[in-house]
Amino acid sequence: MKSRLVQTVKDNRVSHAWLFFGPEGAGALPLVLSFAGYILCTNRNETDACGFCASCNKVGKYIHPDLHFVFPVNKTRSLDKDSVTSDDFIAEWRSFLLKNPYGGLNQWYDFIDLENKQGVINTEESKRLTGKLNLKSFESDFKVVILWQPEKMNDQASNKLLKLLEEPPPMTIFLLVCENPDMLLTTVRSRCIPVKVPRIGDEDLLHALTDKHKLAKEKAENIVRLASGSYLKASELMGETEDVSYNFLKFRDLMRSCFRNDIHALAKQAEELSALTRERQKSFLEYGLRTIRESLALHFDTAGIVFITDEEQAFIPNFAPFINSSNVIPFSEELNRAIRDIERNANGRIVFLDLALKVATLIKRQ
Ligand SMILES: [Zn+2]
Repeated sequence: MKSRLVQTVKDNRVSHAWLFFGPEGAGALPLVLSFAGYILCTNRNETDACGFCASCNKVGKYIHPDLHFVFPVNKTRSLDKDSVTSDDFIAEWRSFLLKNPYGGLNQWYDFIDLENKQGVINTEESKRLTGKLNLKSFESDFKVVILWQPEKMNDQASNKLLKLLEEPPPMTIFLLVCENPDMLLTTVRSRCIPVKVPRIGDEDLLHALTDKHKLAKEKAENIVRLASGSYLKASELMGETEDVSYNFLKFRDLMRSCFRNDIHALAKQAEELSALTRERQKSFLEYGLRTIRESLALHFDTAGIVFITDEEQAFIPNFAPFINSSNVIPFSEELNRAIRDIERNANGRIVFLDLALKVATLIKRQ
């Protein structure tokens, strides 16, 4: 795919607006960053940026003066002013990209500590962008704008962007990176060349895990099966065996308290879980979903089960008898509902307590 993009630059027919879209963790943003690097490189070769020129150096640190970033933000505890824009968070954004270019929205929100707020791309943001693009480029022939998650533009911002796309400032290239193109104005979408970024193939992912991350083949295969083509998910599973362990212990304790109907313990555990970041809360609930799925599968076939840790291997066979055909569906529904509530910023303490009380009933259903 990159070669197709590279060809348009070589032929000097690079279009002024592109829309890259693909599922979270598939790597649309890293692809766009390297495309931007190629456009801005002053010494590009047939297939790639040179990697050494001053321009490549600056792009690599995300500090090239002709590379502009727009992404969703909001007020935080340490930054409370009328209208916050990407510029207020550019330092955080750079470290986020260096640390986790495959990161999704929730990772970004946690990174800048948005707590329970969602990010937006507001009108002030598009005003500023228009201002910047009216200036001549500094070092490159081109000015490149990377607009991450344009779904988060409010209506006014979308309309301002549309104007920019309709009458683009000279030598300016817009690279939009989104997950759901359907959420953009049709008029915005129709101005862009669409580029679909597919989920990462299992073979490629396996290769990356064993080669780049030096994982043992069996472990890498387990992770690939759970990651569904998302590098983000894979790195979570990889880097966070620690998290798996935490999720496991908390899930086991919660199930035990549910089984004993120990309301006092349940309230305490709900409190503790609600203190985690939103992302960790979701990861805990997704872990629960996986555990009950595997517990049910254990009734039928043990060969296909993926245990990440030894602790799981000890617990799940004991837990499995409590998961059966009469409770597995409502059980999963409760967990899914909790995930949706957390995504909608519901109060975590209430979500977890509610969940626990329902599970306490379900787990005794035979
Ligand atoms: Zn270069």
